Amino acid sequence: MPQYVAAIDQGTTSTRCMIFDHSGRVVSVDQKEHEQIFPKAGWVEHDPMEVWTNTRQVAAGALAKADLSTGDIVAVGITNQRETSVVWDKNTGEPVYNAIVWQDTRTDKIVQELGALGGGQERYRSKVGLPLATYFSGPKIRWILDNVEGAREKAEAGDLLFGNMDTWVLWNMTGGTDGGVHVTDPTNASRTMLMDLDTLQWDSGIAADMGIPMSMLPEIRSSSEIYGNVREKGALAGVPISGILGDQQAATFGQACLSPGEAKNTYGTGNFVLLNTGTEKVMSQNGLLTTVCYKIGSDAAVYALEGSIAVTGSLVQWLRDNLGMITTASEIEEHARSVEDNGGAYFVPAFSGLFAPYWRSDARGAIVGLTRYVNKGHLARAVLEATAFQTREVIDAMNADSGVALTSLKVDGGMVVNELLMQFQADILGVPVIRPVVAETTALGAAYAAGLAVDFWKGEDDIRNNWAQDKEWDPQMDESTRESQYANWKKAVTKTFDWVED
Ligand code: ADP
Repeated sequence: MPQYVAAIDQGTTSTRCMIFDHSGRVVSVDQKEHEQIFPKAGWVEHDPMEVWTNTRQVAAGALAKADLSTGDIVAVGITNQRETSVVWDKNTGEPVYNAIVWQDTRTDKIVQELGALGGGQERYRSKVGLPLATYFSGPKIRWILDNVEGAREKAEAGDLLFGNMDTWVLWNMTGGTDGGVHVTDPTNASRTMLMDLDTLQWDSGIAADMGIPMSMLPEIRSSSEIYGNVREKGALAGVPISGILGDQQAATFGQACLSPGEAKNTYGTGNFVLLNTGTEKVMSQNGLLTTVCYKIGSDAAVYALEGSIAVTGSLVQWLRDNLGMITTASEIEEHARSVEDNGGAYFVPAFSGLFAPYWRSDARGAIVGLTRYVNKGHLARAVLEATAFQTREVIDAMNADSGVALTSLKVDGGMVVNELLMQFQADILGVPVIRPVVAETTALGAAYAAGLAVDFWKGEDDIRNNWAQDKEWDPQMDESTRESQYANWKKAVTKTFDWVED
């Protein structure tokens, strides 16, 4: 009988369960969106209980759709939106507050205060590979402990647990209050600002700086080993959970970027370019992050340079949900095709400040270059082009940091169905853009991590052999047009700086 691996993909907008066969093809998918909670400008929350309920439903749904039973599944992997932080009571299983999402900027003041202790934005970089920014988990935990009544006392008494979404899902799947496993992997831990990149352990000094009791933090294990078995009575009962990778690292793994110098870009809510740098960690001089790419069992950790862009696909959502300019995301391509170019308009979506390579929390979104000539089609183009320009900035930084120019870019994620965007991306980068057959690389990467731990896949060659190209876009734009458009973009970016004052 054929066997399969399941992956839970706990994403920013939805939770999915995907089932893969041995060749890495998708056998079935079930997916459920959860509510995006915006209590104030700059705040973004999710209800952890809703996410957990959805996780159970999609696991059952994916099995049912493929007409499979639990006995057909050899392992489960978990991948997740990174940095998003949950704090819950280990005795009741109840979160003490909603999950604070990675895009949330409420920790701005905490971040400034930590920087003011000395070293500014670079205070922890040499240990954790990250600049001080609202993006990461540590300051979010601190905010919960400072602002939720009674939370600090409970945390100090050892009653509260912290987890990113991987840990929250794992703890619940393995029994919750009845013996739930409180574990994470180094890819997720490397996004908290609390993990030492060399030892792959929590740094007690940074935790003390942020006022976070060490007892809240999960144990850091590898990305591929058996953490426990599903204790639920429902779908997947008894199946080992044996892989955890943060979503972007999972996509890198699923894209078979397994050798130093290989890179991928995922186009989802935001964009995330990761370059595998092997077992050497490269410290960025150009605004990128140094992060753990994966750690398979007892093998040495592999590191990556990462360019994180906060707003790309979510700008398309914004056009749909906040402006009502389109009714579905795919409609944007029709509008963009109604015109030849952007008509001089540039849209810098600095909704959460700017992430890589700028790390400016004082920036806010702007549309510049407007004239009476600009119409809906031009704006649709400017929206799509924003994704490609932001990617170019990150790739330029990567080329500068690594000293080697990228020769092609593997792409995946929800936006890569947009052919106009893919062509413009190749044009503005000046290198080919390549889409694989299986675009669900995030879930696939988590499935690989889980399947390797139970010998369903034997090693990295299986992953390389399963990767297959679907389509390639080659650059068609002449050099002078490319560079003048890019220069305009860079100028547009400067117009968003210094908007938020304190
Ligand atoms: P995530 O995993 O971050 O939730 P996905 O990889 O599922 O995101 O991608 C969804 C994003 O892709 C959404 O932000 C949506 O606006 C965008 N998107 C989906 N289809 C298109 C399209 N045809 N053109 C442009 N953007 C799209």
